[in-house]
Amino acid sequence: MSREEILTYLDMCQRERMSLQRGMNFVSPPGVSIVLMSRRRGAPYRDELSEDGTELIYEGHDVPKSADVPDPKLVDQPWATSLGSPTENAKFAGAAKRSDTPPGLVRVYEKLQPGIWSDKGLFELAGYEYADSGPRKVFKFHMRLAWDQQMSSQTPMAADKPMTRIIPGWIKQAVYKRDRGRCVICGAADQLHFDHDLPYSRGGTSFRPENVRVLCARHNLEKGARIE
Ligand SMILES: [Zn+2]
Repeated sequence: MSREEILTYLDMCQRERMSLQRGMNFVSPPGVSIVLMSRRRGAPYRDELSEDGTELIYEGHDVPKSADVPDPKLVDQPWATSLGSPTENAKFAGAAKRSDTPPGLVRVYEKLQPGIWSDKGLFELAGYEYADSGPRKVFKFHMRLAWDQQMSSQTPMAADKPMTRIIPGWIKQAVYKRDRGRCVICGAADQLHFDHDLPYSRGGTSFRPENVRVLCARHNLEKGARIE
């Protein structure tokens, strides 16, 4: 798994072995929950990810629109469904405040374009607030990146190494659009990755679209082989 992979909605569902119909999908620890986020213009929730990709404040989700609730953005985000069972918000909140068990882990995906997603990594659920947001209350879940998968799938992240090799979401959106969702070498449209043109290890930056491009798995691997 790599955070530079470009995933279709189907890729994402296959990887998680579930149909991701909603944004928040709670799985009891030690299982891994899944949340989807978007910071695109007009996105329905205000999710905030720090520039280095390590700290996420994820907004809870609203009730669906219904005859009883014509505008879900005007009501407090509920703890229970109309049938009385806990909402996904309430389940995440419960896992966030438990201290006797290992912290809940959450896989985070971000939407780049309709149907196109990227993996933001595995986060620890660190806490939550039920806070005022204009006229109502919303959940704000605090999450912290748990593992640096770019370096190793085994080693916990070193707190003193900011992960500047992570390509920010807005760069990914711009690059995916510029490269029209295809490998810039052969035009393949599947198994795509974001690639640092000048490798991070040689001083290439993740923070300029000019230094990032879309490559298919084959060309990404060929390039990796040359660098070694
Ligand atoms: Zn290619």
